Amino acid sequence: MSASDLDSLPQTLRLKSHPSARDRCTSAVTFSPGTILLSVPALVTVLLPAQKGHRCDACNRQPQNQSLKRCTGCASYWYCDTICQNVHWKTQHRKMCKDYNLYYASSRFQNLQAHERMDALLLSTLCARMSQLELGRDSSISTFLSLLPGPIEIDPPSICGRYSISADQIKSLYSRFGNNNFSMHSHFNVFGHGIFPLASRLFNHSCMPNAAVKYILSPSQLVRMEIVALRQIMPDEEICIPYIDPALLQTRAQIFELTYGFNCNCTSCTFLGILGRIPDPPKNDPELQNLTNMLEEFVRNMGEISVLQTGQSRGFPSQLLCVFHETFLGDLSEKFSASSHEGPYDIALKAGTTLTALYRLIYPSNYPQIGIHLLEMAKTAWNQWMQANSDDEAPKALALQALTLARGILTVFGSEGDEHNGPLLEIQTLGHLLQRRDRHSGTET
Ligand SMILES: [Zn+2]
Ligand SMILES: [Zn+2]
Ligand SMILES: [Zn+2]
Repeated sequence: MSASDLDSLPQTLRLKSHPSARDRCTSAVTFSPGTILLSVPALVTVLLPAQKGHRCDACNRQPQNQSLKRCTGCASYWYCDTICQNVHWKTQHRKMCKDYNLYYASSRFQNLQAHERMDALLLSTLCARMSQLELGRDSSISTFLSLLPGPIEIDPPSICGRYSISADQIKSLYSRFGNNNFSMHSHFNVFGHGIFPLASRLFNHSCMPNAAVKYILSPSQLVRMEIVALRQIMPDEEICIPYIDPALLQTRAQIFELTYGFNCNCTSCTFLGILGRIPDPPKNDPELQNLTNMLEEFVRNMGEISVLQTGQSRGFPSQLLCVFHETFLGDLSEKFSASSHEGPYDIALKAGTTLTALYRLIYPSNYPQIGIHLLEMAKTAWNQWMQANSDDEAPKALALQALTLARGILTVFGSEGDEHNGPLLEIQTLGHLLQRRDRHSGTET
């Protein structure tokens, strides 16, 4: 544990032994919802191909009203300004600039799958970063090398640049990629991949997590990850984050086993394990209608905390088991998004209401995805209200109600990513519109 980031752990967090994982990070105090439990800088980050040229390769920001400047060496890296460029050059790019274009065009890179290319670039960047440091003297790299490797050994892709790092060491770095690296997002849209060793070292997974991960972008700095409490966390309680979307109710067990090398024992997995095989949802309309009515009623009576969070599987109606089938969620989301922008809005709102109930069942309280969905519901209800010719005020009431709930949830998560166009800003704008305008003076959002 010496010379690693663990030495700088805040007083409010403790690392304790865990029965199956290596350690668990527990709280030493009571945290209220929305508290930032930890803030850690990225060791290295790589942008998704679609983001190249739109975001700064150093700070990953998307500057407004300002064009990015290209590296004159390779013409393939973009920066806000010379500060970002200098930081990136000194810490890593100097080692990759000359070889980058040849490497990128080579068949050894082009023949890789999209996710392997991201890994290859991240691995190259990590090696470039390491070779700029005195190896072993950097606490983040020690922490990264102290992480458990993934369950399946995969040969590393060939990398960009030449380094005095042995093949074994590169293999050792790469073996920690699949189960430890993060997809970084801004307003819940992924923009790149990053390595955050301390976060990987500290937090175990739960499908009903009490904390979530967000990304903070600041000028001339590497991306920071913040771990935010979703609900009140009591002293000695383990702090867990979701490694994958918990909505992958049927496939997640296999992902945990193959990619991460563990079996999840969270309340949600235990709950589903007790109830057994998930049947197919009904295909015909009357049966589907009965099912959605039943689901909505069950969730209405469930209270604030999901039965998948409390683990109360006794008394769960067996007819509802099929709502955990991944196609049920997939079909509902598709139905909602197909008509939430252009209409028919009543169809969107009906599917969206069922989806809200399902989200409240499968996600923990204050989970950001519930808030994002409620914001979409509010926008759809607003659109319906703007379009309606009658004096029916019900859509406006629905928009206000969904917006209030969305605001409550997303305020806990707080702002992340790009400073412009976030969901909190959208909530504010729609809130003003709903308060101030009558139906016939506004425009569709
Ligand atoms: Zn920048
Ligand atoms: Zn360059
Ligand atoms: Zn689980």
